[in-house]
Amino acid sequence: MSWHHVTLIGLLLVSSPIRAQWLQTQWDVMGTRATLEFWQDSAAEFVDADTHPVTTAIKTEFSRINATYSPWVENSELYRVNANASQSAQPVSEEFQYLINTSGDYYRLTDGAFDITFASVGHLYDYRNGKAPDTEQLKQTLPSIGFDRIALHDGRVQFTVAGTRIDLGGIAKGHAIDRAVAILRQYGIAHAYISLGGDSFVLGDRRGRDWQVGIRHPRDAQAVAMRLPVANLAVSTSGDYERYFIRDGERIHHIINPGNGKSSHGLVSVTVIAARGIDADALSTSVFVMGTQKGLAMINAMPGVSAVLISAEGKVFYSDDLSPPSP
Ligand code: ADP
Ligand code: MG
Repeated sequence: MSWHHVTLIGLLLVSSPIRAQWLQTQWDVMGTRATLEFWQDSAAEFVDADTHPVTTAIKTEFSRINATYSPWVENSELYRVNANASQSAQPVSEEFQYLINTSGDYYRLTDGAFDITFASVGHLYDYRNGKAPDTEQLKQTLPSIGFDRIALHDGRVQFTVAGTRIDLGGIAKGHAIDRAVAILRQYGIAHAYISLGGDSFVLGDRRGRDWQVGIRHPRDAQAVAMRLPVANLAVSTSGDYERYFIRDGERIHHIINPGNGKSSHGLVSVTVIAARGIDADALSTSVFVMGTQKGLAMINAMPGVSAVLISAEGKVFYSDDLSPPSP
């Protein structure tokens, strides 16, 4: 099997068989798959997850987030901003401001590796149809990249340069996970697992035991490279296998180095564990672009944040607080 044609790594939840009152459901949203599993405390009032009001509430919330921040939905808030913010300041919601401001925090923390204006070039990629910007297009669009091209004042956002666009794909799913956790808590649920593509959160424990989140080994899809016991933590994986195509032996994928507008090479998978989904999500994308040395140094300086990195050669790197599995 060739290296490209294997699903290299992914998150795999290792859990005991579902007991009577664990309810589980899955659905497609935000261009990916959502999984929800939760423990229902009271005597089986609901026999299946889909009839439980917490499921409806989370589904509605994920759909709202998609409809608001999708760059492809023509009347989304984000679409309106990208279409008009180079001409005039656009009013945006508090939530939108929070996402832009958090993105700005990560832009500064990562020395520009995390940059939502990557989309100024990023929109020229079409992974399904094998399209990437050529040298001339890169030259024309690179000057529009840079978080400092965004002016956000009094609830209005404006781009100071023509051609700037934003995309919240590196942070929106983590935010959606945080929203789901808040909803689960509102409904009094104390034990749950929620995931949205590579972003997930483990709420509580698995009734007396930790949830085990496994990271698959890149050289063997069946093998687990490492098992991490987690409770009340967000886990986010960024990989180069989510959206990509191969051209002249090069894997062209959806995590873009804002410095050159090209797919970031060197790492193939980055998993980050943090207290909040939004942080784990932004950081997994960030470390993917920053690479092993800079990425690990940043994570090691952040209390309560852990990471597991897998390089293109299949080497595994851990943040200082995680000890490697025993040989
Ligand atoms: P996914 O779960 O979609 O694979 P990731 O957390 O791995 O998400 O982030 C990839 C997404 O982040 C891309 O699809 C794109 O929308 C966005 N992105 C790509 N490069 C960057 C970057 N340098 N800074 C911020 N966001 C980025
Ligand atoms: Mg991410």
